[in-house]
Amino acid sequence: MGTRLLPDAWLCAFAGAAVGALTTLMIPTATTPSKLSLLTPSLFSLVPENFAGAETLSENVRAIVHAAIEPAARSVTLRAGDTLSDVLVRTGADRFTAQNVVDAVRGVFDPKRLQAGQELALAYDNFAVEGDGGSLTRLDFELNPGYSIAVVRQDDGSFEAKEIVAETHREFVRTEGTISTSLFESAQANGLPMDVLTAMVKIFSYDVDFQRDVQKGDQFEVMFERNATNDGRAVRNLTIQYAAMTLSGSPLKFYAFKQEDGSYEYYNDKGEGVRKALLRTPVNGAVLTSSFGLRMHPILGYSLMHRGVDFGAPKGTPIMAAGDGIIEKRELSPSFGNYIRIRHNNEYATAYAHMNRFAPDFAIGKRVRQGQIIGYVGATGRATGPHLHFEVMQNQKQVNPINVKFPAAQKLDGTLLAQFRATKQKADQTFASIEPNGVKMASAATAQTTAKK
Ligand SMILES: [Zn+2]
Repeated sequence: MGTRLLPDAWLCAFAGAAVGALTTLMIPTATTPSKLSLLTPSLFSLVPENFAGAETLSENVRAIVHAAIEPAARSVTLRAGDTLSDVLVRTGADRFTAQNVVDAVRGVFDPKRLQAGQELALAYDNFAVEGDGGSLTRLDFELNPGYSIAVVRQDDGSFEAKEIVAETHREFVRTEGTISTSLFESAQANGLPMDVLTAMVKIFSYDVDFQRDVQKGDQFEVMFERNATNDGRAVRNLTIQYAAMTLSGSPLKFYAFKQEDGSYEYYNDKGEGVRKALLRTPVNGAVLTSSFGLRMHPILGYSLMHRGVDFGAPKGTPIMAAGDGIIEKRELSPSFGNYIRIRHNNEYATAYAHMNRFAPDFAIGKRVRQGQIIGYVGATGRATGPHLHFEVMQNQKQVNPINVKFPAAQKLDGTLLAQFRATKQKADQTFASIEPNGVKMASAATAQTTAKK
């Protein structure tokens, strides 16, 4: 007998159903009842306990016949420190075969980037005997949902690797929750992906101070689109179409509206842009350390009117321009240290003090856009520690940036407003048609009309 045996003899019977097992299980073939009776004792000694009954035995016969038609297969999991070659050799491939497979993989993917925990599906010749190191016919592994690499043995014995991209579809995902400790915790508990949560926080950050405004019992709702494989696994999260937060009983709702350039902007139900003319917090991740109003000055030691708010942040944290405007002042003052003032329009200006240093690009008279970095947090001037002293001036007078009602940057009207209302209505209907924390396939009918910016 050679290395390839006929179906009537022993064969490696790893059908797809056995995926996950690591031990090589040798099951005798039995194609006729008479042979089966002869083989029964050895079958019982070899097969797992679920093969114990006569009925399951006949099932097993079918499985064995199936195995004779389908290639034998197994699945293994990459362990920490494993190379692809290690795994192939450990599962019985000879060095030559393993090397050929690895070389083929390199053509489409660097096998060094495989990580511990990666599942590998291996398939073998039907008629191989155990110990035949050249019986591997195929290796498959999925790198991301819907994206796999297949390495297939060719007729000449060489291996070829190819990428397999699964068919995907668009779907809407509805997620909602009630906040008990934090928005983060509630979002996680309800399965909202981190990237969607981050995008949602960004939408609300013009109107909500997440450290002060969000309380236990507040609620959120979000509906976003994603690409998913046809077996329902997320491939890529796309645009948030609708997001709402109900804070202390008052709802705030925002809807995505597609702009002429293909990007999305968010509007409240009246068609007012979420993007405000001014940012309330011009430093990311900052903590409000001193609020607006009368207070004991920490250095001068007597009560003074604090005409701004202080945001504590590590030295060097970037400071953003709160809105579009022109740099009106940029100076080193004894009290405010490195200080910048931006004029936004006839009504509003903002000021930034105690900067460690200025960003180089913004000299006096230069135009600046909202979100551009104008300097870095420091403790220059009269400051006890690194923080940003931030002032908002309305008609030459300092106002409390936390309370001031900033004007919306854009308000839709005319045709655009009509288009937005249709979009909003569609989003509301779609949201209502999905079960809480459910999913719905997107259809062409949900495509949005395009807005002019
Ligand atoms: Zn201050």
